[in-house]
Amino acid sequence: LLRKLFWRPNHPQFPICRTVCDFPLKKYDVIVVGGGHAGTEAAAAAARVGAKTLLVTQKIQTIGALSCNPSLGGVGKGQLVREVDSLDGLCGRAGDWAGVHFSILNRSKGPAVWGPRAQLDRELYRQFIQTELHAMPRLTVLEGSVEELLVSEPNPDQPGQHRVTGIRIVDGGQTISSSSMVLTTGTFLSGSLFMGQTTSPGGRIGDPPSCVGLSHSLREKLGLRTGRLRTGTPPRIIKATVQLSLAQINAPDKQPTPFSYLNKHTRCKPEEQLPCYLTHTTPGVERIVMESLHLNTHIQQDTKGPRYCPSIESRVLRFPGRSHQVWLEPEGLTSDLLYPQGLSMTLPPDLQLRLLREIPALQRAEIQIPGYGVQYDFVCPTQLSPSLQVKRVQGLFLAGQINGTTGYEEAAAQGLWAGVNAGRTALSLPALSLSRTQSYIGVLIDDLVGRGVTEPYRMFTSRAEFRTALRPDNADLRLSPRGFEEIGCVSECRYEEAVRVRDALRDALTAMKSISMSSTRWREKLGDVNVSESKSTMLSALELLQYNGVTFEMLASAFPECLSKHLEFSQRLKIEAIYRPHCERQVREMERIREEESLSLPLDIDYFSLPVSLSREVREVLDHVRPHTLGAATRLRGMTPAAIVQLLNYVRKTG
Ligand code: FAD
Repeated sequence: LLRKLFWRPNHPQFPICRTVCDFPLKKYDVIVVGGGHAGTEAAAAAARVGAKTLLVTQKIQTIGALSCNPSLGGVGKGQLVREVDSLDGLCGRAGDWAGVHFSILNRSKGPAVWGPRAQLDRELYRQFIQTELHAMPRLTVLEGSVEELLVSEPNPDQPGQHRVTGIRIVDGGQTISSSSMVLTTGTFLSGSLFMGQTTSPGGRIGDPPSCVGLSHSLREKLGLRTGRLRTGTPPRIIKATVQLSLAQINAPDKQPTPFSYLNKHTRCKPEEQLPCYLTHTTPGVERIVMESLHLNTHIQQDTKGPRYCPSIESRVLRFPGRSHQVWLEPEGLTSDLLYPQGLSMTLPPDLQLRLLREIPALQRAEIQIPGYGVQYDFVCPTQLSPSLQVKRVQGLFLAGQINGTTGYEEAAAQGLWAGVNAGRTALSLPALSLSRTQSYIGVLIDDLVGRGVTEPYRMFTSRAEFRTALRPDNADLRLSPRGFEEIGCVSECRYEEAVRVRDALRDALTAMKSISMSSTRWREKLGDVNVSESKSTMLSALELLQYNGVTFEMLASAFPECLSKHLEFSQRLKIEAIYRPHCERQVREMERIREEESLSLPLDIDYFSLPVSLSREVREVLDHVRPHTLGAATRLRGMTPAAIVQLLNYVRKTG
């Protein structure tokens, strides 16, 4: 057992970190179960807020492993990475360290919905996360499998209300106590793996599932409602066997954009980045899928599969006759494998090979690891409060795929927030929540605990009604100051950097507002700028910056004495200028909602026929509850600020 308790780096340069007398202690403030994307952020966050933390995970060498695609970020997900970074989480800096192909997705749309994304080197990512955890004060890591959650008997004064007291480890049945715990078992809770007609217990290929005792603890002992979800992963292909000349090259951005606000550059130099390749499925792929359905247990059990990362089988079944995109993505700088995004499949291995070879670029492909599917238990997240604590179990927090989400970024975001609150609870500080007007993390948690999930939940920009304010460029200003001053999870150095940026942007905006002249004078000063206003209209430099073709650099060269010192922030200032009027309007709307909280809502309103843009879900809740006031409506499950504004406008207009 002692051998197992040592921190055992599997990378030669990774320093040995713990002495045996460090642990096992018998008592910690916080125990985090699981070393995936949620667990690592949770453990680091709990330690940052000051809690003595233990991370228990099945295999130390898989801490920070990317189970599926080697990539981070994307549309909506990139915003989450930036927010995690702003609260001093790990994944953004890990992405900058491990990225081998950086691009900003959605560039044709406004900067509010740009999606920073990177293709990663798996090994570098894992090493970075492990190194960070190793250096983290107050954090101990233990290799072991948790088989049981220990809880106090329900308090007679609060029937059904348990309190978490610790864990029991499989190996030797050792118990360790804590008053707070974060459970992040990912795809491992009663996990089953599927390949062809073979089903075996497992959480990921090569890893056993969580012990059945853990599912039992949650369901039988604590009475939590659970469900089953599925996902899958594609085969990994040997790169040397792929004819890349038959695929279309997809180059990275010339200048990589780091995820972290603390990084000016990524580790990978621009010219060292690796390309991705695009190819397409052929009718032969569809034929093999259709001919082998009877050999494919995973797809037989659920033909639809997860909506957001569908398998090739469900894509073919849903959209017959179509050609589907397949991205061939590098697995790392030195890896000899390619990851075929879009070809997640659960066919028998020989048929997987036949299917791949129906695609011209993959005619000679060889598979190193076949694709497979996984089915696992999740806990219905409506049983959690916005702090991610289980309502009926004091001190028990859940984060990541166990809450019904999919994706590393969603897991990391929840992990960070659960870790913060587990740490604060253990230190007798009040738990906190993040509002959906403040962050994508707030949107994610509000959606989970307010609406629940019926399929794996993935973040999209469309889920955030305040997306013009919740931009990837300004997460540091939204979250780092609060993270330091109130939450306690942000370091002083990050805080100081955020304050420096905030003050500089404020000064630059004030300076731009103070420069005002007619549009004719602006044209004379800046040359031929396309300003549609009439000649005499007065425009401030800030208003002018909203126009296409006007850059902050142009303004700074016209007014160097007051603006050139802010050139470092030219892109952020341009984005701020574009969105400022819209965001100010939204803030006014929010203030109006607060002022009108006591506004009466007619009890006979027919919510289903209201001529306003409300989702069916919101109409159903309103119809069911029939709130008396606008304030009561704001507190309803699943109610969004945008829906409240619609309701307010309607009642004011008609009443
Ligand atoms: P995980 O990363 O799964 O980590 C769970 C951790 O908990 C592991 O380290 C495990 O060892 C540990 N653990 C579990 N039980 C115990 C226990 N009892 N005691 C101690 N430790 C324990 N995401 C996508 O976005 N798109 C996809 O297409 C996609 N496909 C996937 C396909 C497969 C086959 C798998 C396995 C995952 C896929 N994912 C996909 C999901 C992605 O991997 C997860 O969203 C993400 O890893 C979730 O992070 P997590 O921290 O919640 O859990």
